[in-house]
Order: sequence, then structure tokens, then C-alpha cells
Amino acid sequence: MTFDCAIIGAGPAGCAAAMYLARAGRSVALIDRAAFPRRKACGEGILPAGVAVLRELGVYEGAEALGRRFSGVAWTTRDGRHARSRFPHGQGLAVPREDLDHLLLRRAAEKRGVRVFLNTAPLGVERAGDGVRVRLPNGTLRAERLIAADGAASPSLRALGVPRREPELKRYGLAARLTGVGSGDFVEVFLIDGGEVYLTPLPGDRRVSAALLLERETLARDFSGREAAFWRLARAHPALRTRLERASLDAPVVGLGPLASASARWEDGPWLAAGDAAGAVDPLVGDGIGLALRGGRLAAEETAAALAGSGRPGGYTRRRRRLVRPKERLARFALAMSRRPGLARWTIKALRAFPSAFSALLAD
Ligand SMILES: Cc1cc2nc3c(=O)[nH]c(=O)nc-3n(C[C@H](O)[C@H](O)[C@H](O)COP(=O)(O)OP(=O)(O)OC[C@H]3O[C@@H](n4cnc5c(N)ncnc54)[C@H](O)[C@@H]3O)c2cc1C
Repeated sequence: MTFDCAIIGAGPAGCAAAMYLARAGRSVALIDRAAFPRRKACGEGILPAGVAVLRELGVYEGAEALGRRFSGVAWTTRDGRHARSRFPHGQGLAVPREDLDHLLLRRAAEKRGVRVFLNTAPLGVERAGDGVRVRLPNGTLRAERLIAADGAASPSLRALGVPRREPELKRYGLAARLTGVGSGDFVEVFLIDGGEVYLTPLPGDRRVSAALLLERETLARDFSGREAAFWRLARAHPALRTRLERASLDAPVVGLGPLASASARWEDGPWLAAGDAAGAVDPLVGDGIGLALRGGRLAAEETAAALAGSGRPGGYTRRRRRLVRPKERLARFALAMSRRPGLARWTIKALRAFPSAFSALLAD
């Protein structure tokens, strides 16, 4: 089996890359070890720039039917200070990840030139001549190019011998889906001791997605029982205790970490890395899905250029840096704010004075 491009991982980055490559008339093998629909630890909110990619791909209407729109982000400190800001343009969209990812996969599979391999973990990924060889349980495929989009642990980049860089600050995430929690049309971020909880409104009656992000030390104490840890840590915030009084779990608590690890390289010869496989920005910024969709588009553009003989070495890395740098800066600031109550108080004051400043950063 021979393809122009093999994409390992069919999350938002892999599916977006496959759809854009199909548009460029290229043949694609889209490979995922999971059977879809599958769960993914996530807060499940897509910011406006990511929503714009869903529109461009023609999947927005389908996603909107499965999701709920939101208009901005609100913050509450431990001592109850509160600020919120609305996106200056566009809206966010929250969709349960198993629904969103399944929709993206189905749409990618419909495209001419895309062949999907599910339940298929590659046994080996290696460079072969000018291209790559991917060994699958049922045979071997060859491709001129490879896009690694297999998430934060990226087994395919590991197989290619590319190490991962761990973040200085190790954080872990727990994600749950709750019922019995009222919500408006904002994602709400609550600063807790050693981290944050954020609630994203989902479709359905009083249903939210809840993500809890924590530093390692706290998790080392609490990770033994995810569910108990989730409730105890979330209910330690006075405002959340009241909000969660009638809450119950709608789906089991899932965990992931360390967050924000990155690949030591983003491209080399016939391969490049997209989405969390290239590097995940701390979810506190809430834009991983959007960056995966935009990063998938970028990876497809650069791959199509390379296949046409017009690619420039290092071009992908430069463009990807421009995409993720502003978000990384924002993540660093948001993390500092979440760790230092004085800075958090100052930021909330600034947000109240200039409500559109932070949301403008989030929206782009
Ligand atoms: C707790 C938490 C909360 C978050 N909240 C938000 C949020 O509210 N909003 C937001 O935008 N982002 C959020 N994120 C980030 C977001 O989930 C990720 O950035 C996003 O899923 C990245 O997409 P991706 O396509 O790169 O990778 P993934 O979605 O991880 O997809 C990777 C795919 O690769 C497959 N795969 C893995 N290994 C192999 C293998 N060996 N062979 C084949 N396939 C393989 C997996 O099955 C998976 O389907 C959150 C993350 C966490 C941990």
C-alpha cells in the first residue's frame, strides 16, 4: 500500500490534516490505535479561532448540533473576586470530545483519497529511502511523507528517535462530565490551591464539562483515587462548593499528564509533528483543540508543498512557532497568576477595568 502521506493519530490535528490534504488532491492513510467514538480527557471547549477552522472544513453545522455555544471566559479567585470577558468576535463551541472527534473522523473518511485504519497501532515507523514505512498488524504501508498527530505521548515520534521535552512545571489534568450544575454561556475558571477548575457548559439540562488542572505535588498526594480527589479539590473552593452541591458524575473521571510536554523537533526530512504530538500548551489557556485544528491545517499545507517540490526546510517550524508562541506566553502568564494570589487579584482588577483585553488574546 502506498500513499502520499501517512498520518498517525486521528484526533483533531490528524483529521484536519487529512481533510486539507484531501482537498489538495493527495492520498492519505489516517491511522489510529483507538476504535471511535473514544473518550479523551478534555475540558471540551473550542475557542473562536478553532471554531473558524470547523467552518472552513464544513463541519461546523454538524458540530454545533452536538454542542453548545459560549461567549467568553470568567474567572473567580479563591477569595471570591470575579471578572469575565466576552470574545470580541465569534463564539466558542463546547462539544463532548467523543462526539466531536467521531464527527471529524467520519467527515475525513468521506473525503476522496483518505483511507482510515482504526484499532490499528503501528508496530513500527521508520524512514525508508526518501519517505517512510509504517508497519501495521496487517501489512506494511509506504508513504512519501508522515504527519505525527498521535497526541502528547506520540509513540510515532518516539519510534523515529525524537525525544520529548518535559515542561519545567509538571501539571496533571482530571476531566469529568457533571450533571446538576447550572451554567450560563461562559467558561468559568476557578482558582484553587495549586491549580484551577474550569467548567464548560455542555448541551443538555444542567450539564457541564469539568477539568481540574494541578501541579504534581498536589496530585502525588491525591491521584490515588481520581474521583475522590476530584470532588475534594473542587469543593475546596467556596464558590464551587455551592455550585457543585447537586452535582453528580455523568461520565467517569479521566486523567492525563504531564501536561505541556513537547517534541524536541517538529520536522525532519519526510516527517513533521502536529497538535499535541508537536507540543501541548497548558490547557489553562483552553485552546488545545483549536491549536490542533490550526496546526493540522499548517501541517497539511507544508506537506502538500513538500510533495509538490516547493517545500522549504524549516518552513513548518517557523510557521508553527508563530502559531503557538502567543499562546505559550499567555499560558506562562496565566500559570503565574494561578500560583500567586497577589498577581491573581491584580489581574482580576485589570480584567474588570479592561474586560476585552484578555478575551482578545484568547480569541485569536
Ligand atoms: C484535562 C485537560 C483539559 C483540556 N481542556 C481543553 C479545553 O477545554 N479546550 C481545548 O481546546 N483543549 C483542551 N485540552 C487540550 C486538548 O485536549 C488537546 O490539545 C487536543 O486533544 C490535541 O489534539 P490532537 O489531535 O493533537 O491529539 P489527541 O486529541 O490526543 O489525539 C491523538 C490521537 O492519536 C491516537 N494515538 C495515540 N497513540 C497512537 C498510536 N500509537 N498509534 C495510532 N494512534 C495513536 C489517539 O488514540 C488519539 O485519537 C485539555 C487537555 C487536558 C489534558
